[in-house]
Amino acid sequence: MYDKSLKAYEEAQSVIPGGVDSPVRAFKSVGGVPPFIDRGEGSYLVDIDGNRYLDFVQSWGPLIFGHCDKDIEEAVLNTVKKGLSFGAPTELETKLAAEIVEMYENIDKVRFVSSGTEATMSAIRLARGVTGKNDIIKFEGCYHGHSDSLLVQAGSGLATFGAPSSPGVPADLTKHTLLCEYNNIENLKKCFKDSNDIACIIIEPIAGNMGLVPATKEFLQTCRELCDAHGALLIFDEVMSGFRASLTGAHGLVEQNADIITFGKVIGAGMPVGAFAASKAIMSHLSPEGTVYQAGTLSGNPVAMAAGLVSLRKLKSNPSVYTELEAKSQRLVNGLKEAATKHNIPLQVGTRGSMFGFFFCEKMPNNFKEVGECDFERFATFHQEMLKRGFYFACSQYEVGFMCTTITNDEIDACITAADEIMETL
Ligand SMILES: *Cc1c(COP(=O)(O)O)cnc(C)c1O
Repeated sequence: MYDKSLKAYEEAQSVIPGGVDSPVRAFKSVGGVPPFIDRGEGSYLVDIDGNRYLDFVQSWGPLIFGHCDKDIEEAVLNTVKKGLSFGAPTELETKLAAEIVEMYENIDKVRFVSSGTEATMSAIRLARGVTGKNDIIKFEGCYHGHSDSLLVQAGSGLATFGAPSSPGVPADLTKHTLLCEYNNIENLKKCFKDSNDIACIIIEPIAGNMGLVPATKEFLQTCRELCDAHGALLIFDEVMSGFRASLTGAHGLVEQNADIITFGKVIGAGMPVGAFAASKAIMSHLSPEGTVYQAGTLSGNPVAMAAGLVSLRKLKSNPSVYTELEAKSQRLVNGLKEAATKHNIPLQVGTRGSMFGFFFCEKMPNNFKEVGECDFERFATFHQEMLKRGFYFACSQYEVGFMCTTITNDEIDACITAADEIMETL
């Protein structure tokens, strides 16, 4: 029943490293063959063997309206007919920028790029350019894309400076990255004692790349205060949470202002897009207005802008979407929790808008180390069994799940029933 995917995977591996263009797609942490996808249909993925899956991944976040939304499809097709790219300004960019600016009170201007990785990389350059400082603070378990200075892991001993987490990244390029524990206020204060050259803190205010781990209110407040006290800028990486956690992203939920905000995923509705945004004063440092260089041949691509524009306008005209998505996310994780409890399996669950997470462990993890203490084997079995029954969850406990508008309560209940069956055997 995975025959065609198996063959496709083998063929892919002969011409693409590991057969995939992004490592997580290879299903390494859960095992098995990654289904090769033929098409999406609303809430469902259909693979090349004809298997259908209820999709809780939604392209890792962008598809808040599910697959093949008619309005987005129509806007994209109409734009495609006028040409794919011009390398010259279009009105679509201004319109999408205006939609984003309107939702965030402390940002005035947006620069579009083509991925989340580019957005955070550029936001950090901007923060360094504005402050004239070099060091950055990043938290363990937060992911901000794959640029060199962000691929860090804890160094040996008590060093605050990160060591490269990938071959190919010179230690010289990570020596300005200070690595801190998420939700650890003392650790963060120590960083500001260790360095007087801090340009910025970059943080996922609702971490979604170590499973769902929200920052505490006190922690974000400390981030804000330390930045203000030391002339550093606070960057909220909202590539995932922007227009996902709420209509005003994580920012709207945590009641804390950042200086620079990065976007991606939902603002492109499935097309390759990223963006970073800040006040007029900060953005004035950016080329061509200022001297901090940043550019992109395909930046603000019209097709991507058209997709994002329709998507954001749809979200804005139906703000209740988020309450509905949150209710569905809660229905799902509460159902999973109930099933787990029934079978004496410890499970921790959480939701933030249309993002949801669950961990096979005794207590709710607060940071990367605690997530690492979860039962990964149990997760892998759960994942494989759910996949067999037609439920497509993210293939790692370090990832969150995403609810989309087309998933119904009946589908969620069917998912819970399947999970209940599986948990009996776990
Ligand atoms: C996905 C993600 C990125 C990277 O975006 P890409 O488009 O994959 O480069 C950066 N930050 C966060 C928080 C993300 O979730």
